[in-house]
Amino acid sequence: MICPFCTHDDSRVVDSRPVEDGTQIRRRRECPECGERFSTQEVALLNIIKRSGATEPFAREKVLVGVRKACQGRPVGDDDLVLLAQRVEETLRRTGKAEIEAQEVGLAILAPLRELDEVAYLRYASVYRNFKSLEDFEGEIALLRAVPSSANSQSAKSASATSQTKVQSDAPSLKINQITTSNR
Ligand SMILES: [Zn+2]
Repeated sequence: MICPFCTHDDSRVVDSRPVEDGTQIRRRRECPECGERFSTQEVALLNIIKRSGATEPFAREKVLVGVRKACQGRPVGDDDLVLLAQRVEETLRRTGKAEIEAQEVGLAILAPLRELDEVAYLRYASVYRNFKSLEDFEGEIALLRAVPSSANSQSAKSASATSQTKVQSDAPSLKINQITTSNR
C-alpha cells in the first residue's frame, strides 16, 4: 500500500481489527519511510451486475426497498425485513463470487420472502418474473400449494381447503448479527 504522505511504495500494518459483523477488516498502517500512519479497510467484493451491464456494490438497503414494497399492508415487521435482507446477503456471499447478476439477487430473495408472507411473495414474483396473465399467477399459486414452505406460519385463507399447514420446527435458524448500514 502506497503511503499517501510521501508515496513510498510500502507500509507496515500496525493494527488490524474486524468491523461490520466481521465482513470487513480495518488496518492501521505505518510508513517506514516518513513514519506517518493511515488506515485502510478491506472488504470481500460483492458487486451486482445490473441489466445495463454496469456494476455497483451490493446494498442491503436496495433489497429492503424491494421487499418492503411487496410487503405493503401485510403483517410483516420491519425487523423481519432487515433479517431477510441479511439472509439474502449471506446467501450471495456464500457463493464466493465477487460479481453477481441482479437476477440472482432476485432469486435469493424469493425463498425467504415466501417463508415470511406468501402474498408478498406473489407480488414480488409477479414483478420479478414478469407475470403477464392470470394463468401465470395460477401457476405460481398451484406451485405454492404443491410445495409447502418450511416456515409457513400464516398460510393464506385460500389454503382453508386443507387443514392448516403445520409449522415445521426445522426452519433454518438465523444468525442474528448486528446490522449496520453505514457506508464508509
Ligand atoms: Zn510515507
